[in-house]
Amino acid sequence: MEDTPYLTPIFYQKFFHTQIHPEFTADQILLEQLSKDNDTPDELMANLSNKPIPKGLVSNRSCSKDTYLRDPAVSRRALARAGHRCEIDTSHTSFLRKNSSHLYMEPHHLIPMAKTDHFGVSLNREQNIFSLCSNCHNQIHYGKKEDVQRLISKLFLSREQEICSILGRKITLEEIYQFYNVL
Ligand SMILES: [Zn+2]
Ligand SMILES: [Zn+2]
Repeated sequence: MEDTPYLTPIFYQKFFHTQIHPEFTADQILLEQLSKDNDTPDELMANLSNKPIPKGLVSNRSCSKDTYLRDPAVSRRALARAGHRCEIDTSHTSFLRKNSSHLYMEPHHLIPMAKTDHFGVSLNREQNIFSLCSNCHNQIHYGKKEDVQRLISKLFLSREQEICSILGRKITLEEIYQFYNVL
């Protein structure tokens, strides 16, 4: 009797949520990891290669689709590269992150990590990660179609070359709209 694990309804809720929304969960874990970090000297960006690199490690194989690991160091560099400002509008404000002298921003993978197998290369690259304020980040995930399109096109057009380079092929705005179901 003592060995029976005590499984609360909350546990079941969390467990099944993790199973159904592995990508959402992986992004939440990434945010948590970034919050636990202390400030580290921003690593040099000079050697950032635009060449495609192999798909990373899988963090969750229990579902029909693989979920690829988000390396927090890559996101940290992407936020530093943006100067810890929102890449939709640098005047968007936020609060100071704990253990840090930087504004709190959230990393967003423009080409969704869930499309890793579709491209066959790593999508966890600085070039694919944008620094967004919480409001813009939520809007790109949960906003109205026209607004989501506007945000995506602004981000994509600001880095089109780099994104095509890391994918190893051309990609159009329409293709990205499809990934977000806003075509
Ligand atoms: Zn996101
Ligand atoms: Zn913003």
